[in-house]
Order: sequence, then C-alpha cells, then structure tokens
Amino acid sequence: MFIKERSESEELKVLKALNTRMDLPEKEKQYYLNLQKGFEGEVMFDAYLRQIAIQSLILNDLLLEQNHSHYQIDSLMIAQRLSYLFEVKNFEGEYYFEGDKFKTINGNEVKNPLLQLDRNVSLLRQFFNSIGIKIPIEPYLVFINPEFTLYQAPLNSRIILPTTLNRFIQKMNKQMSALNHQHEGLSEKLVASHITKSPFSKVPHYEYSQLRKGVFCHSCGAGMTEYHSLILKCPKCRKPVNTKSALVRSIEEYQVLYPSEKLSTNTIYEWTGDLFPKRTIRQTLKENLIVSGYGPWSYYE
Ligand SMILES: [Zn+2]
Repeated sequence: MFIKERSESEELKVLKALNTRMDLPEKEKQYYLNLQKGFEGEVMFDAYLRQIAIQSLILNDLLLEQNHSHYQIDSLMIAQRLSYLFEVKNFEGEYYFEGDKFKTINGNEVKNPLLQLDRNVSLLRQFFNSIGIKIPIEPYLVFINPEFTLYQAPLNSRIILPTTLNRFIQKMNKQMSALNHQHEGLSEKLVASHITKSPFSKVPHYEYSQLRKGVFCHSCGAGMTEYHSLILKCPKCRKPVNTKSALVRSIEEYQVLYPSEKLSTNTIYEWTGDLFPKRTIRQTLKENLIVSGYGPWSYYE
C-alpha cells in the first residue's frame, strides 16, 4: 500500500518552468535534465512496487535529517520482518565497478551509488534506533533503465538490474507479511519527519524581465503563435494541445516561479504573451480559484 506518493519536487518544477522560458546555464541545464531523468526512473520503479501484493507500507521520496545530515530515500517499503530501502538509478549505457569506484565504460568515474546507499542506511538506522524500532533495514540499489548494462557486478545481492526486477517482485510476493501498530507507528513517524523544503536546491537566480513570455509546446519547446479556442497547434512539431490545459499549465508555471505573487488577469495575459483573450483568462482563473494542483490560487481580479 502506498502511504506516501511521489510527486515532482518544487525544485524540479521550478527548473522545468525556467527551462522553457530562459536559456539555463549549461551546468544548471544538465542538473535539471538529471533531476528529470531521476524522477522518471523513480516513477518507473513505482509501477513495479504497485505489484507488491503482500501487506506492506510504501513511502516514496522521503527527505529526512539525522544529526544535521540530510538524506533522501527514493522508496522505503515496510513489511513485517524487514524494511526495504530502495535507491533508484535511471542510468543508461555501460558501467562497471572497480573496487570502491563506479565508472562508465569509458573510464569516467561516477559517484558510487553503493556508497550513497550505505550512508542512507546508516542514517535511517539511527532514526529507527532513536524511536526504538528494531526492524532491520535491507538496502537495495535498483538500476531501472532497460538500456543499462553492468559489467563486473560485485556478487552483491543488493543490486537489482532491469532484468532481475520482475523476479525480485515475485520473490517478495511469496513472503508472509502481517503488519501491526508498530509498523504503522513507524510509517507515521517517517511521514511526520519528512522535510518538504529541500536544502539541496540549486535553482539559479531569475528575473521576471529575462523570462520569455508566451505559451510553449511541451514536446519541442516552441512558442505557440496562433490562438484557437479549443486546440492550440505547435507551429514547429504540429503537436496539438488542449487550449484550456495550456492556459492552466501556464498559470501553474507562473505560480511555481512566483508563489507569493498575486494572480490577476493582466499578469497572466502578459505572462502568456498576449495569446489568450483576457475574457478566457478571467474565466479560467475564476474556475480554478478554489482547487488546483498547486493549492489555492491566491487572488484574481
Ligand atoms: Zn512542438
């Protein structure tokens, strides 16, 4: 059972919105693409976790702090006798381990995910101890991408490859697991300890004046040039998008980048490069005032 679902982090949302509206510096752009890829990999792994049929509590995307050290857990699954900690990597291409080092086939060293996993387990174990939980933690490093190849894999049961994922899930489902209040208490404490504001955020500075105004195609990034009340068509890749959802998404992007600014018809009119009639903007703001994916829209006039 999923107790805590995964969603795009604020940081990823901001970078995504910025990426379409400014030329991110190369370093930030790479960082954004890595974040996005990592998120997609975690979502792919969730599809496997949804096949877990035994009694369990699954918490995704936890950000915790222990002794002034922050650590992030991609997925934690609490079962009767064990809790499983999963670190998910969406790497593509050929890699190998060389002692303590993790390298691409060209010999470039990459941060060793097993060391990261060790650190996370140790910090999570301290958290368990601090609240008197004795359930052992079993860590796994999951390489989720089917285009990933690992040479010289250490004979290490902690690594799950794309080709062994199904078997792993099947094996899990053969276990007996009955949960009690101790497991539930643990899950509640974890959710309560989750930190929502990431200290790792690497969002570059941005000014309103430097951001491109308009409505941008989600597939290719081109700006929409022609308005139609039902469907907008990308002038470059010809991909159609529902006009209303394009407007709602533009408003949400504005909210992500300027969370404390008040919304008004004129603000959004300018933000979307004068593409939508003001009447349509006003109506959409009104309709979505109460509920939206990003909490209540603060104001419109
Ligand atoms: Zn396009």
